[in-house]
Amino acid sequence: MRRIGIVGAGQAGLVLAIGLRQLGYAVTVFAERPAAEVRAGRLVSNQCLFAPALRRERELGIGFWDGEAPPVGEISFAAAGDGSEPSMAWRVALDRPAQSVDQRVKVSRWLAEFERLGGELRIRRVTPADLDECAREFELLVVAAGRGPQFDALFPRDGERSPYREPQRAIGVAYVAGTLDAVPGLTFGMAPVGEFFLLPVLSVHGPVHGIGFFGVPGGPMDVWDGVTGVEQHHETARKLLRTHYPWQATLLDEAYPVAPTETLHGRITPVVRHPVGTLPSGAKVLAMGDTAVTNDPVGGQGANMAARAARAYQDAIVDRGDRPFDEEFMHDAFARYWRHARHATRFTNDLLAPPPAHVLATLDTAQRVPRVAHRFAHLFENPADYEGWLGDPDAAMQYLRDVQSGVQSVPEAGTAPVTK
Ligand SMILES: Cc1cc2nc3c(=O)[nH]c(=O)nc-3n(C[C@H](O)[C@H](O)[C@H](O)COP(=O)(O)OP(=O)(O)OC[C@H]3O[C@@H](n4cnc5c(N)ncnc54)[C@H](O)[C@@H]3O)c2cc1C
Repeated sequence: MRRIGIVGAGQAGLVLAIGLRQLGYAVTVFAERPAAEVRAGRLVSNQCLFAPALRRERELGIGFWDGEAPPVGEISFAAAGDGSEPSMAWRVALDRPAQSVDQRVKVSRWLAEFERLGGELRIRRVTPADLDECAREFELLVVAAGRGPQFDALFPRDGERSPYREPQRAIGVAYVAGTLDAVPGLTFGMAPVGEFFLLPVLSVHGPVHGIGFFGVPGGPMDVWDGVTGVEQHHETARKLLRTHYPWQATLLDEAYPVAPTETLHGRITPVVRHPVGTLPSGAKVLAMGDTAVTNDPVGGQGANMAARAARAYQDAIVDRGDRPFDEEFMHDAFARYWRHARHATRFTNDLLAPPPAHVLATLDTAQRVPRVAHRFAHLFENPADYEGWLGDPDAAMQYLRDVQSGVQSVPEAGTAPVTK
């Protein structure tokens, strides 16, 4: 039985660990905290998972919350205009509903599932200095410990794949309850000063809504640094809605913060890292999930990509057979993942820049041509469609001309079957 060690029990590490355990590998997971502490902790993410990532969880039999988690069946988009009404707005159903289950709910349940499957769980915060000792025990050691800075030196920034050196958004998220049940699906608002979203979530407190603001640093939505209490957060959120998304001014009027632990503030620098780290002994370790590729959460891709990474790494491990998990293997595993992750990374990084003319034209056309709205909304589950479409201004404008003149043969990658 091949021995695999995984540092970090998050969306990436645990999905890989459970998948490998189901195939009979001897897997040890190093988790910072036991399940009860994870559940009792602070809000960590907003984790909207789209169909391909959900499918992976269901294949493994660990999508425990179907039927309980509110389905995210549609996306509503609106962009701020000069007055109180949006300059453009559209709404479209997703072919396959998305879902947001609080990572504290998932991780605590998955830790139990991993142990039930015979996996070894060690509650221990692993430092970079500990890695050599860990690496000696395993044929392969994967570091899936989330975003920096603890392992940043081990996995240096890949400048060619990382256009940003600084955070591009000031983030403020809260879980709220109240009379938001009437708001279906994912609501996304865009303004020159930043974005906001609202989303139903199954949290540790039951069904709630997550509301998040992503402000351009230094701008009028970069407001979270001095915010401490949950009430102050709530009032700040209401003010942001009134000021920058006036058509949503009353959205939170009847809502209330769920608990003092249910806010999160921060800034994240998007980065792609060299995925193979060399320890002082010369042993190699492989980065995974946010430790390897961190995107700004505005595109809702990180947890989705973590599930993709788990699948790509598992396939690479299985295909390796009895051969050593050497550096060549590690580069191959990451390359398999990067085939998907590069699309999510490009899509997200471009979302952080002011939208160019062809994107604005596309969003505008989406109001009148449902298939354009449909294709745009499905970029969140299939960012691979971005490169040959909105990633290419000429192709994007040609697509708009084609759909407006009724050409039927335009490829619609958003409706393609979901690939693994
Ligand atoms: C505000 C916000 C909103 C988001 N919204 C979305 C969204 O809608 N959709 C989406 O797809 N993604 C979203 N994300 C991103 C998503 O949460 C991450 O990309 C995803 O959780 C990454 O998974 P991971 O397993 O790589 O890392 P993590 O989920 O961070 O897990 C890492 C684990 O490693 C543990 N760990 C850390 N250090 C050590 C150590 N030294 N030793 C042992 N264990 C350690 C941690 O405790 C943690 O359990 C959002 C993120 C934020 C912050």
